[in-house]
This record gives sequence, C-alpha cells and structure tokens, in this order.
Amino acid sequence: MELNNSHPIEELTKDPVIVNEVRRLVQIGPLEKILNLARAHSMWPMAFGLACCAIEALMGATGPRYDLARFGYEVLRPSPRQADVMVVAGTITRKSAPFVVRLYEQMPDPKWVIAVGSCAISGGPFVDSYYVVPGADKLIPVDVYVPGCPPRPEAVIDGFIMLKNKILNPKVVTS
Ligand code: SF4
Repeated sequence: MELNNSHPIEELTKDPVIVNEVRRLVQIGPLEKILNLARAHSMWPMAFGLACCAIEALMGATGPRYDLARFGYEVLRPSPRQADVMVVAGTITRKSAPFVVRLYEQMPDPKWVIAVGSCAISGGPFVDSYYVVPGADKLIPVDVYVPGCPPRPEAVIDGFIMLKNKILNPKVVTS
C-alpha cells in the first residue's frame, strides 16, 4: 500500500494563480510597521533603579499623580527577560557597572534604553569621583536622554513619548 503524505495545501502551493494572489495579499514590509506600532504602545520597562532618580523621577512618573499607565507603559517587569526598555535611573558606580551591562544583555531584542537624570547621562554631580561611570552610554547604547537632577516626572513621561516616536519612525534619531 502506498502512503500519500501530501497535504491538500501542498497542491495549492503549486498553483501559480493561488501563489500570486497570496503574494498580492501578504506583504512583509507593513508587518514591521504593525510590530513597531504594538511595540511603541506597550513598552515594558524594567523595574530597576540605581539612586535617587529612581524614586524622584521614575517612581513619581508611575505613581497616581502622573500615571505613566495612561500611555500603556506601566508594566514594570522584575526580570530583564520580560522587559524591553531599560530605564537607567541613578548613579552608575564602577562596582554596579557589570550588573547594568549584564541586565541589558539579558533583555531580549528589540530593546531600548532611556538614561534618566544627570548621573545616568554624564555622571552628574559625582562625575569627578574615581568610582563613578561618566554616563550609561559608556556601557550600553542609549536611545533617549532625560536631563535633570532629578528630572521631573513629566520629563520621564516625555522621554517615553520620544522613545515611542523613535520606535514608530526608526530612521528618526532625534526628536
Ligand atoms: S541626577 Fe541627581 S537626583 Fe538623579 S541620581 Fe544623580 S544625584 Fe540623584
């Protein structure tokens, strides 16, 4: 007895009319746009802070007064494996730098970084100290910088909106 393992769908894939119709309907280009639309409106930041900016700016932005949840960015994840945005909020010391890098590397792609506050951008008031890294971009790629010591919670929200625009328009590097 001869076994016929071919599925009826295989026969359809040999029909040039069907193949051309599928090619007409399915376009890969817009798929990336749809994914970026979803990514830009549902970022999952990592719950992770290094110093005062984490409380003053990041926790303030997620609290009830400023309510980052309005934009769909409130799902702070306790694990880097479930996060796509690292918000570096606070002073990066040379001792904590390896952990910052490790957490970043543990995040799945695509991933983005927001540097919140003077310390995360440039070392801040401690830049001359022997133990402070002069900015997160010395360790990992940074997409958005939010200046201030500490920045206002509104500035953090604005940083997320800048990142949203960058995800929606990948060729735009400044906003
Ligand atoms: S920028 Fe200012 S508020 Fe933020 S971590 Fe540094 S010293 Fe603290």
